[in-house]
Amino acid sequence: MSSNDCIFCKIVAKQIPAYVVYENDHCIAFLDINPVSYGHCLVVPKQHVETFADATPEVISELFKCVQQVAIAICKATNAAGFNVVINSGEIAGQVIRHLHVHIVPRYDNDGLTIDKQPSTKLDEAKAKQLVEKLQHMLKS
Ligand code: AMP
Ligand code: ZN
Repeated sequence: MSSNDCIFCKIVAKQIPAYVVYENDHCIAFLDINPVSYGHCLVVPKQHVETFADATPEVISELFKCVQQVAIAICKATNAAGFNVVINSGEIAGQVIRHLHVHIVPRYDNDGLTIDKQPSTKLDEAKAKQLVEKLQHMLKS
């Protein structure tokens, strides 16, 4: 399955160029065209799936195997001290390209990036209990 006007499907089909660092039957990994740090890569399932929630467990499984392999290689190649794995899922979360992709963002000392956790509120006990019950019920079986 592919989408005609999808830029990542075009990269998968080699219709447009990309700095491909790895590919297998399921996934392709390439450098982000506007890297937020040196070595910023995207890992993409070859099948056109719009969001993380739309993907099958098999697609997610293959995708994350690839993410781990590529992330380890990037750290070795760049001497990054660590990395962030980011998925923007849905427009409100900042997803611009509507084909599932995982960002691997290598991190360096004093890189000034602010992907890290933001200051948070304290968990509301009543709301938390209610939410946990709801989720446990939904996720049963
Ligand atoms: P997102 O906001 O999660 O949808 O991120 C989309 C990412 O795709 C951005 O970081 C872009 O820089 C990147 N991007 C867009 N077009 C290309 C392209 N042709 N090759 C590589 N990366 C791209
Ligand atoms: Zn696509």
